[in-house]
Amino acid sequence: MNNNALQALTERIALEYFQRPFQHRAYFNSRLRTTGGRYLLGSHDIEVNPKQYVAFGEAALVDIIKHELCHYYLHLDGKGYQHRDKDFKCLSQQVGAPRFCTPIQSYESRANYVYQCQSCHARYMRIRKVNTLRMRCGKCGGKLVDITNKDK
Ligand SMILES: [Zn+2]
Ligand SMILES: [Zn+2]
Repeated sequence: MNNNALQALTERIALEYFQRPFQHRAYFNSRLRTTGGRYLLGSHDIEVNPKQYVAFGEAALVDIIKHELCHYYLHLDGKGYQHRDKDFKCLSQQVGAPRFCTPIQSYESRANYVYQCQSCHARYMRIRKVNTLRMRCGKCGGKLVDITNKDK
């Protein structure tokens, strides 16, 4: 799934669920952390978190896009486009979109690296890469090994 495919998917969802064209841009932004997507008030573009796609597949993308399109059309129409607004609640219900931008992933599914202690075999999950020369096992002080790819 690349940006072109995401754009095409967004245009299709707009026509299918909102019966309106999507005339701005939709693209992946890997810097999004806790939200699945974001609607930009200034440019009217929609950003999508690629990790949601990797973790949960296309169904998650459809949910995110529907949700962001609710923000998009309500904002363009000058209606209540925020989560707490009545217009937003109505529209998101109509199109079957989740009420919030999230799902915020659990720590476990956000973890990109897995380390294991060579002595006691305790496992540690980390979002960022750690220096295994410096970080030691919290239980026994043993040496940690990166087992990220062996684990998947
Ligand atoms: Zn939202
Ligand atoms: Zn240990």
